[in-house]
Amino acid sequence: MTKQMDFDVLVIGAGPGGYHAAIRAAQLGLKVACAEREYLGGVCLNVGCIPTKAMLHAGEQIAAARHAADFGLTFGEQNLNIAKLNGWKDGIVKKLTGGVGALFKANKVTHLIGEASFVDPHTVKVGDKTYTASNFIIATGSEPAKLPGLDVDQQVIVDSTGALVMPDPVPARMLCVGGGVIGFEFSHVYNNMGSKVKVIEFLPNIIPGADADAVKEFAKIMKKQGIEIATETKANRAEKKNDGVHVELENVKTGEKTTEVFDRVLVAVGRRPRTDGLNLQATGATVTDRGFVPANTRQQTNVPHIYSIGDVAGNPMLAHKAMKEGLVAAEVIAGKPAEQDAVAIPGVVYTSPELAWVGLTEQEARDKGYEVKTGVFPMSASGRAMTLQATDGFVKMVVEKDTDLLLGVHIVGPHASDLLGEAGLALEMAATASDIALTIHAHPTLGEAVLEAAEAVHKQAIHIMNR
Ligand SMILES: Cc1cc2nc3c(=O)[nH]c(=O)nc-3n(C[C@H](O)[C@H](O)[C@H](O)COP(=O)(O)OP(=O)(O)OC[C@H]3O[C@@H](n4cnc5c(N)ncnc54)[C@H](O)[C@@H]3O)c2cc1C
Repeated sequence: MTKQMDFDVLVIGAGPGGYHAAIRAAQLGLKVACAEREYLGGVCLNVGCIPTKAMLHAGEQIAAARHAADFGLTFGEQNLNIAKLNGWKDGIVKKLTGGVGALFKANKVTHLIGEASFVDPHTVKVGDKTYTASNFIIATGSEPAKLPGLDVDQQVIVDSTGALVMPDPVPARMLCVGGGVIGFEFSHVYNNMGSKVKVIEFLPNIIPGADADAVKEFAKIMKKQGIEIATETKANRAEKKNDGVHVELENVKTGEKTTEVFDRVLVAVGRRPRTDGLNLQATGATVTDRGFVPANTRQQTNVPHIYSIGDVAGNPMLAHKAMKEGLVAAEVIAGKPAEQDAVAIPGVVYTSPELAWVGLTEQEARDKGYEVKTGVFPMSASGRAMTLQATDGFVKMVVEKDTDLLLGVHIVGPHASDLLGEAGLALEMAATASDIALTIHAHPTLGEAVLEAAEAVHKQAIHIMNR
């Protein structure tokens, strides 16, 4: 390799994984380019995490305004200006994606606009130009999985991208096909904005990967809020008629079929890694049957100078996992002893209340052979939760019986995603339940529920009866 390369690192894709990798590589003194064919910030900033959280916040304010009547505050008739809602959300996206562009400039990352395609293991074509690089980082992300029989038109039958544009008027009847994280976040938005929402899930349980007790509590709360949930149910086909979309639903256990009519149908049945157009064959990098480009703990593919990060590298498909892998890939290329060795990657459903978890579920811990103790503290016993009108849910802690070692924390409750930071750090530091219980948490805060769940493990919580 005597030939001079155009770049030390060429990153393909400017999503959370790609832009983190590009910026960290530049911080470490490398000459970096990042090729992006659609939008800076990738799925997360443009059609994922950020716009959904904006819509969720708007929906929660609508619900909060209704609940304010409990303490005597009433408003006039609710009036949602949908054009303004969509515009406000788009404004946040624009600001953040513009921010990524500014960070690229400030860090001297060359932004190559266009679709990148490999020519050989050290060359890519972007538009009509070719560039060489010593290292490549594949960060091409994922796209919504399709469902036969339900053709997405982004108007009445939508995927997550179409669902982000709220139609005017808000659809009266909405079907969400898929009871995962994305499905429930949108169902919560539409429910709060006035739709009658039904969620169907093929499997016996919603939110795969979360703790069974937490999921049970979460489902109970979602139903209480008015969302209908049908598990072991699939959608066979949808037909658009004058009075709405007629969807044939089938109970997968009994085979019973019914047809129901909706104004909007969201297909949220998972995501597929995206490598189309990349011409990876020219590099010799392995692509699995399911389309992933697998990597080792240093984020290297089987071709050592080609790295893979984020959704395209494997599950879980989460922005913070992509970001971390981006940093690892950049640091490995710069010669640092970096590795993806996270003890646990948090998961969150940003509904209200949130469902959030980090570490092992009770079942996973048992399956791994741990003898387990659990401690549960209900939000209904939290003074802070009462003041926030948010007493649904609990904190559940999973601990190894003999050593008291923390294995997992599962929270259904307000700001669960933020409470998870403490739990994640505790897991990384190999803390015990006692370590958490001995830490003074400010009063009154939601964080005290984490402390009392740790106390509950030892049957010593103060604000509940310990059984
Ligand atoms: C509705 C929704 C809500 C979500 N909410 C959350 C959340 O709250 N929290 C969370 O952690 N995760 C969330 N996610 C998941 C999160 O968006 C992804 O995990 C994250 O975006 C993955 O980052 P990435 O960098 O791997 O890829 P992406 O963000 O998918 O970015 C890949 C980029 O590569 C570009 N690209 C692809 N091929 C090429 C090519 N050949 N040449 C040039 N460019 C190319 C694409 O245009 C894209 O911009 C959500 C996803 C969705 C759909």
